[in-house]
Amino acid sequence: MNPGSIASELLRWYEAHARMLPWRAPPGAPRTNPYRVWLSEIMLQQTTVAAVQPYFAKFIENWPTVEALAAADDDDVMAAWAGLGYYARARNLIACAKIVAEDHGGRFPETETALRDLPGIGDYTAAAIAAIAFGEAAIVVDANIERVIARLETIDTPLPKARREIRAAAETLTPPDRAGDFAQAMMDLGAAICTSRNPACGICPLSEQCAAAASGEPEAWPVRKSKGPKPQRHGTAYWLEHQGDVLLVRRPGKGMLGGMRALPSDNWCAPAKTGAKLDPPDWAPAFAGALSGPRRVIGTVDHVFTHFALTLDVVTTKVLTRPDIDGEWWPVGRIEEAGLPTLFAKAAKLARALEEETE
Ligand code: SF4
Repeated sequence: MNPGSIASELLRWYEAHARMLPWRAPPGAPRTNPYRVWLSEIMLQQTTVAAVQPYFAKFIENWPTVEALAAADDDDVMAAWAGLGYYARARNLIACAKIVAEDHGGRFPETETALRDLPGIGDYTAAAIAAIAFGEAAIVVDANIERVIARLETIDTPLPKARREIRAAAETLTPPDRAGDFAQAMMDLGAAICTSRNPACGICPLSEQCAAAASGEPEAWPVRKSKGPKPQRHGTAYWLEHQGDVLLVRRPGKGMLGGMRALPSDNWCAPAKTGAKLDPPDWAPAFAGALSGPRRVIGTVDHVFTHFALTLDVVTTKVLTRPDIDGEWWPVGRIEEAGLPTLFAKAAKLARALEEETE
């Protein structure tokens, strides 16, 4: 492998084929707007480019600068994030924007080390922002880059143990004067050509130097330890209606879907494997009393989280008086505007569909 030639082949390819993404500057630009780079990198954590694009556009339209985002109402930001998942990212986004606006005069710190001190910015994100926005010679390794490098060098150590070797290889390959372009070029190559399944080695600019392509079985890398199926959990969500409004609660600030609006539900996030129960949410005791009327399970929704799969029974009931619960009574006809996370948006859709059927 010739690191200099890999970098130059890749950058030449990137200059002709770079994806035009709204948070990017064209290849060769020394710097990119750090607010856009930061926002996109936070959104892209565990989320695809296609899913992020409309959210990115909405955030930029609503809050075009980090100062504007810092001054926004937290509820508005959380609602705008709804559906993108991994809600701790949104809470960290708000905290980070406030620190940048208040402690750094609205300017992001320019080094990988200083960026790492901000909420929600881990090793990868700090390196990506430093390289892409500020031109620092930082080493960026995301899942796409990991795959390309594991193949180029046929690294036989299984992931995640291989990460040290992959990072060392990335350090050798990254040209210090174009670290941002190199990282984005590797990402694009991984997304468009060196894909997990059926990599298109025939049109890859690196095929001449790629050990995995030479082996004839490029898909064999990166090597992974086999995973068992995700644990399955069950739970119940309640659609509690009174005079055209439905009860929504705010989930506790920490934990699954923390801080988001939600339908009241039981402790589905307790680990089923051990049978352990988490403390019931604050609303649970008052809520249990409100459920004295007839109720029925109208169906189930399935949702897959990172560490488990969930099947949620959806129970509906109408109440005669509003129970004394710390929540919001939201107009049923405007439920789409509540910013419910996907799990509860699916449950609400099911309840609404049933109502429309019986009307
Ligand atoms: Fe990936 Fe094939 Fe290119 Fe190697 S030659 S980097 S395996 S697409």
